[in-house]
Amino acid sequence: MHFWEEPIISGEKGSGTVFFSGCSLGCVYCQNFEISHKNEGKLITPERLADIFRELEEKGAHNINLVNPTHYVLAIKEALNIYRPNIPIVYNSSGYESEETLNIAKEFTDIYLLDFKYISPDRSQKYSGAYDYPEFAKNTIIKCVEHQPESIVENGIMKKGVIVRHLILPQATREAALVFDWVKNNASNCFFSLMSQYVPFGKAGEYNEINRKITKREYEKVLNYIMDSSFENIFIQELSSGDEKYIPDFDLTGI
Ligand code: SF4
Repeated sequence: MHFWEEPIISGEKGSGTVFFSGCSLGCVYCQNFEISHKNEGKLITPERLADIFRELEEKGAHNINLVNPTHYVLAIKEALNIYRPNIPIVYNSSGYESEETLNIAKEFTDIYLLDFKYISPDRSQKYSGAYDYPEFAKNTIIKCVEHQPESIVENGIMKKGVIVRHLILPQATREAALVFDWVKNNASNCFFSLMSQYVPFGKAGEYNEINRKITKREYEKVLNYIMDSSFENIFIQELSSGDEKYIPDFDLTGI
């Protein structure tokens, strides 16, 4: 159970989160380095995955939160055909998605939780090894908003819709403003979630400019820019969230 997602996702009872091994991006600062880069994890069947969904639902989870599901969509679909929980399914993705994958995800997704990490191809190439990420991320957001155009929130808990997240990187306040502007102009009916939890992990030490947390000044610059806009549905993470204690232990709990 995960309690540190946006309040409309985690609620009071928690989000029933399943982390998948591997990742289609290679972010040098990844906080989930062991599972995303080193592929740590445990091999399970779609039948067991269906049982995990059931167990999370029985624990009272507000939703099933599929983290980094991209390369497992067929297995997830198979698991959901075995057991479809009576709570929303959250597709929690980097945004680096193909049309083909999105078409499969569409069959089972109620809520999209999408990163929009960079709008600059150069920065995207440098830190995530994917020059084409911005174009894929934009297309992903547009397609997901087409699929779930309306945000439905009942008693403070999201049932359907799209949340676009942006993690502020050090020395990238302009990038954050451009990402926000794009979302405001192209996906104005979704939620925007500004994240400040950046902590240099993985190979971030090899890049001097990102080998630190963001400063209060950087945080406030982006915050002020966003708050000056007329965009309505915004989540803001407090600067104190940039702390290792908010990173889950990947100890195979629940698998
Ligand atoms: S930060 Fe997210 S998208 Fe990037 S490598 Fe890690 S899990 Fe993948």
